[in-house]
Amino acid sequence: MSIFSKIIAREIPADIVYEDDYVLAFRDINPQAPLHVLIIPKIEIATINDVTEAQEQLVGKLFTAAARIARQEGVAEDGYRVVMNCNEHGGQTVYHIHLHMLAGKPLGWPPYTEKLKEA
Ligand code: 5GP
Repeated sequence: MSIFSKIIAREIPADIVYEDDYVLAFRDINPQAPLHVLIIPKIEIATINDVTEAQEQLVGKLFTAAARIARQEGVAEDGYRVVMNCNEHGGQTVYHIHLHMLAGKPLGWPPYTEKLKEA
């Protein structure tokens, strides 16, 4: 069982900001922006690579939840970023897919700052 499934089961606590039949969202324990919320499906899907066609609608619900949470948290107009990490190079550490929602200040871009090739 992933640590996020334990949060869904209320076996470990979390600061929940949104919940419906399919999706749960809670504040990241180690925030990387003034607002950092994780939006997860209530079923365990390990990585983006494991998403099936039958789950396309469910994954879409992560985005409609993001827009709803952005309005609720007052960041919809100023803007925000959602990102989903996949596997080691993507920086994934919890193998239960989740959208990171980051907001509350202008965010840096791009995330990869090393030179891609020598000039
Ligand atoms: P990933 O690295 O997989 O993209 O993101 C995992 C995120 O989950 C990290 O930002 C980490 O801080 C967060 N996280 C890990 N364990 C917990 C926890 O028990 N509770 C909460 N709220 N966030 C967690």
